[in-house]
Amino acid sequence: MELHIFFLPMLTPGHMLPMVDMARLFANRGVRATIVTTPFNATNFCSGPNLNILTIPFSSAVTGLPDGVENLTNLPTPEIPPAFVKALDLLESPFRNLLSDHHPDCIISDIFYSWSSDVAAEFGIPRLVFQGMGFFSLILTGIVSQLKTHETVTGDDEPFIVPMIPHEIKLMRSELPTYVLKPNDDIRRMAKAQDKSYGMIMNTFHELEAEYVGLLKMSWHMRVWLVGPVSLCNQGLLDRGSEAPAHVSHQCLKWLDSKEPGSVLYVCFGSLGKFTPMQMREIASGLLGSGHQFIWVVKSSGETPPLVDEEKGLVVDGWAPQVLILNHPAVGGFMTHCGWNSSLEGITAGLPMITWPLFAEQFFNEKLIVEVLRVGVSVGFKQCCMDMERRKVVKGEVIEVAVKRLMGGEVEAVERKKRAKELSKKAKMAFGQGGSSHSDVSGLIQELVDLKANKTKAT
Ligand code: UDP
Repeated sequence: MELHIFFLPMLTPGHMLPMVDMARLFANRGVRATIVTTPFNATNFCSGPNLNILTIPFSSAVTGLPDGVENLTNLPTPEIPPAFVKALDLLESPFRNLLSDHHPDCIISDIFYSWSSDVAAEFGIPRLVFQGMGFFSLILTGIVSQLKTHETVTGDDEPFIVPMIPHEIKLMRSELPTYVLKPNDDIRRMAKAQDKSYGMIMNTFHELEAEYVGLLKMSWHMRVWLVGPVSLCNQGLLDRGSEAPAHVSHQCLKWLDSKEPGSVLYVCFGSLGKFTPMQMREIASGLLGSGHQFIWVVKSSGETPPLVDEEKGLVVDGWAPQVLILNHPAVGGFMTHCGWNSSLEGITAGLPMITWPLFAEQFFNEKLIVEVLRVGVSVGFKQCCMDMERRKVVKGEVIEVAVKRLMGGEVEAVERKKRAKELSKKAKMAFGQGGSSHSDVSGLIQELVDLKANKTKAT
């Protein structure tokens, strides 16, 4: 029996890319997968066998957003303005029309579309929610939000221990995102809609966070399917979508081809991580001072990034083909802002990481990388903040020390690299035939097919 799933991603690369990967993953397993997105975002992705794209209009005029601003990368800061939230709400009506026309059997919706829970119920189909995090961060978010552990300390930089988890993890209030410190109505609406969902689909794999998966299953009624690392479905593909222009990919790969195995540090702070010119100068000085070669991806806002001699490093201003770069044999380390996709992509590529979280749940992911998995070196930044102007500057000397620690040949670095390679093996096993993620996908498909069959019988 043919199964048809609608995928409704949030309009930002950190949510769209994994959901499009997920759609491709289901399409590869014989499911008809349809990505529903807005016209501007649709231009980033290609259809394929079993994989289609349908568009719904983005109401720029009604919400007062400039024309063509349909993605968080088009906004000056990662903060989501009310007009954008309104525009996401206005997608409901055209989405309903598509449901009436196409009758899919299931919706996999980003958590940001709270309305999709009721819409799915109305159409009598299951809604699975995708929120883009890993288990560890999900649990830490839940525990700290509910127990308000951060209110037991007096200062923003006074550490507290996160209770009820298998590791001793210390956090500070300054590391917590606004949605934990001061959840607003939108966050509450999302949580409510999530609770009404059929289940949750996550881009992670069982062996990576087993203790935390167990913890969640024990304490929560929500059913969860772990299907990652979904970036692995891009193996051998140059075009992942939202991808770098061909000449940039070509330039990066050619530059890497001329380097020794494991000698290059890849530096990227996700799709939204911007820095002031002063911080960029410090990064340049730290990287150059380390003596290690690097590819540094900059998301400048028009200002010229520091000039670097191509013998020492390659600076890409714009979009880089991250998954391709991470998997190039010349790359030996990753400096990351710890967005969940980047974290998982680094783990999957078997790379040790320098962690420099900036905002959202990135500080939780850092703890997982550095303290639980022990494959990271922290740069020591402790200020969860979306506004680059308000962030404290990390000095070049500090960056230099972290790069030397990560890329050097000391015993601790060698051990870290070994652990990273082991994790990569586990990630690939989980995703491959017979692995835990592969089985979760099979189980979910079978369940949805059975559900459809029962429904058809009943009518
Ligand atoms: N990415 C990329 N090239 C870039 C910047 C980002 O391919 O120049 C991809 C990266 O591989 C990841 C996603 O964009 O899949 C970013 O997601 P993440 O969760 O790491 O961070 P966010 O951008 O949401 O902060």
